[in-house]
Amino acid sequence: MSLSHSQRRQANLKRYLLATILPIIFLSLSLSLQIYDQIKMYSFTKTEIKGIEVLEVLYNSLIDLQKIRGYSQISFWGGHDKVDRNIRDLQQQFLERLNKSEWQLKVEEFQLKSEVEQIKKKAAELFQIKTGEVQEKTLFDKYTRLITDILQLLQLTAAHSYLILDPDLDTYYLIDVLDTQIPYLVEAIGRVRGLESGFLAKRTISPEEKERLNIFRAAILARIESIKNAQDTINKASSGLNNSLQLLPENFDATMAPLFLKQETADPADTGIHRTPEDFFTLATRCIDTLSTPYQTGIALLTSRLETRLQKHLLQGACIFLGTGIAIILLLYFNRAFFLYDQKLHEEMAHLSITDQLTGLYNRRHFYETFPRELRKTFRNGERLYIALLDVDNFKLYNDNYGHPAGDHALKCIARAMTDVLKRAGDYCFRIGGEEFCCLFSESDMEKATQFANRIRLNIQELNLEHKANIPHGMVTVSLGLVMVPADPDAILEQVMTQADKALYRAKESGRNRCEIFS
Ligand code: GH3
Ligand code: MG
Ligand code: MG
Repeated sequence: MSLSHSQRRQANLKRYLLATILPIIFLSLSLSLQIYDQIKMYSFTKTEIKGIEVLEVLYNSLIDLQKIRGYSQISFWGGHDKVDRNIRDLQQQFLERLNKSEWQLKVEEFQLKSEVEQIKKKAAELFQIKTGEVQEKTLFDKYTRLITDILQLLQLTAAHSYLILDPDLDTYYLIDVLDTQIPYLVEAIGRVRGLESGFLAKRTISPEEKERLNIFRAAILARIESIKNAQDTINKASSGLNNSLQLLPENFDATMAPLFLKQETADPADTGIHRTPEDFFTLATRCIDTLSTPYQTGIALLTSRLETRLQKHLLQGACIFLGTGIAIILLLYFNRAFFLYDQKLHEEMAHLSITDQLTGLYNRRHFYETFPRELRKTFRNGERLYIALLDVDNFKLYNDNYGHPAGDHALKCIARAMTDVLKRAGDYCFRIGGEEFCCLFSESDMEKATQFANRIRLNIQELNLEHKANIPHGMVTVSLGLVMVPADPDAILEQVMTQADKALYRAKESGRNRCEIFS
């Protein structure tokens, strides 16, 4: 292969590497970005799920603490053993719930440990207070403050576990209902329950206390309204949630109605219904309990939604990975196929560009490329380079007598006869004109070179191709002009060719079918 061809091959290889490596770099870059995105979303969602678990525990602690507050109001005005026992059980349940190690770990992860410790500490202090030690209103307010702390902790948990950043509109609203709306509604009902049970136990209510009660009743109505609005928004979001989710129980307004009825009190102007404090407490507790079903459903739905999202991220990650992997393999495969095809095409083109179509010998162009290279090579090897210029004798007459196609055929036979002889490494045979050929070979001396040239000539003669007009030989013969190329790596081809031509002319002049040496 020529030097330019190997250079072309190198350039081609460089192009192949660029066309393969650059896309692979970009594909890998985009793959890592996308995988990073999926991993980020995956861990984001996982944190959300953990956050929901914390929300659930906090919500249940809230319910416990509210009950303790309510019972303590009844207890203050002459409660009995059952109420006190309930208080003790609930206090224990409250502390145990907040001490669960698995839950504590999550709290730690969300950096809420100190907040939870504070709540536990304050609760433990409150639980130490004996009935009658402080005013019932003071105790109520102390519990309420602690409950407010838990309500805030619910929202803080949602923030720390990224729940408030949830990208889906419907789950975002559901989260708001679970970390804020339902807990505040429950607390509003709990306050009415605690106060009213206390008043019933006390059997008296002051105008200020009545005012306070009404404020909490108004708070209940406001929260119910908010939850209904959230339900509407979720329904409008038309996702998978709206069919299975009912944030408020059926007939919730009717369930709530007894809480708004006037109770019989010591006030003679009041003509309400008579209820014992325990009755009222049970009634209000039932209201709170009816909310636990939608709350639990909400938590379960939210968790399953987030878990589906986790699966989706896993699947997407796998698809992206697989897709990019396949793209890279295809890229490698097709680029290699194109490269090899291109290579083959180049080789074919390079071969065609130096080949004579009729005889399959090298052409004149390749002769000019080969000569300087061979010259330097033989010079290095200490040998001499010879050029034998060969011309078919009376070929015009051959064409005239046997036709042009027969002439072509004869040329092919001559070419074959030449290559039969010129088959050593460093032997070359070119068709440089119509019926003119050029042989390039190296020999140690002129005698051997002449013998070699005559072998070529005889091999052609031995083809025995009839050529009557080639008198006196009667068959196709050739004449050769042989010349030894000067021992100079920069010898000028034109000069050498002129010498060879002269020798050939002499061969023709002296009867053809012979080899003449330039001298
Ligand atoms: P001389 O012995 O002096 O060389 O006589 P010649 O007839 O061979 O002389 P000349 O070189 O003038 O003629 C060459 C002829 O070769 C002319 C042309 O018809 C024929 N020829 C050249 N190329 C081709 C070819 O590709 N095919 C055929 N069939 N003939 C060709
Ligand atoms: Mg000629
Ligand atoms: Mg001729």
